[in-house]
Amino acid sequence: MSTGRVFDIQRFSIHDGPGIRTTVFLKGCPLRCLWCSNPESIDPKPQLSFMAEKCIACGACYAVCKPGALAKGTDGKAQLDRARCTNCGDCAGICDAQALELVGRDLRAGEVLEVVLRDRDYYVQSGGGLTLSGGEPLLQPEFVEELLLAARSQGLHCCVETAGYAGWEVFDRLKRGVDLWLFDYKESDPSLHAKFTGRERETIVARLQQLHDSGAKILLRCPMIPQCNTRTEHLDGIAALARQLPQLVGVELLPYFDLWRAKLKRFGLTTALPDTVKPPSREQLKGWSDYLRTRGVRLIG
Ligand code: SF4
Ligand code: SF4
Repeated sequence: MSTGRVFDIQRFSIHDGPGIRTTVFLKGCPLRCLWCSNPESIDPKPQLSFMAEKCIACGACYAVCKPGALAKGTDGKAQLDRARCTNCGDCAGICDAQALELVGRDLRAGEVLEVVLRDRDYYVQSGGGLTLSGGEPLLQPEFVEELLLAARSQGLHCCVETAGYAGWEVFDRLKRGVDLWLFDYKESDPSLHAKFTGRERETIVARLQQLHDSGAKILLRCPMIPQCNTRTEHLDGIAALARQLPQLVGVELLPYFDLWRAKLKRFGLTTALPDTVKPPSREQLKGWSDYLRTRGVRLIG
């Protein structure tokens, strides 16, 4: 039985496919989107989260940290030296205040399914089910296949959210276990796509086309990031792509949210996205939606 590296299991999700769902977030991603809402998902390895504001200055963690990454700071609370931290997680288990947490656990498909099945009644009533997200679930195909097939054998509706950067053989292997693909599409201009995500657009669009032509059900999900991809040219690119993929279930616009910035500090990460980038207004979102509708795009949500 394979294990998957999971960084979160979110019950009662309502934004990751139809109905009420449990979303399982997998660690590791080949893209480097400037606006990544789960920056802790990118690195496939476990990472230490430290929330200094929760520290109650008990001092219990100093002794367990063998590399000496934790020490008393000038304010009396713990201070973390990330250059020394090996992300071993020894400190996380002893912090009663839950200021320290190791994010990224290796779980068996059966362990995850046991959590997912707790809310089966809600899925039945709402038309929901299981969604695998990330990170990029396609980086862990063995575990994902096992979990999807186990979930399907229990009658659950299964979605996979993907950024599409994987070999066709991975899609081909997994598609019999997927009811609906939530396929991200981030930018239409090739050079801007590479700048925003760190990967070339061509591979992703080729996979999308192959998946579509194989008869898979696909919802195209487009993050709308002010100062980056909210240009008319990109909206025209979305409309052109939707025409090229007539069997799409539809297109969903995902407005930018900036709550993820708080996570950067927890994980000692940085971003190149300027902090002048703010969530769009309702009017802006409506304007983009109306623009796409007038060009024949079937919008969902
Ligand atoms: S164990 Fe937790 S609460 Fe205690 S000093 Fe360390 S980080 Fe702070
Ligand atoms: S994760 Fe390990 S190395 Fe890092 S601070 Fe905790 S005990 Fe030290």
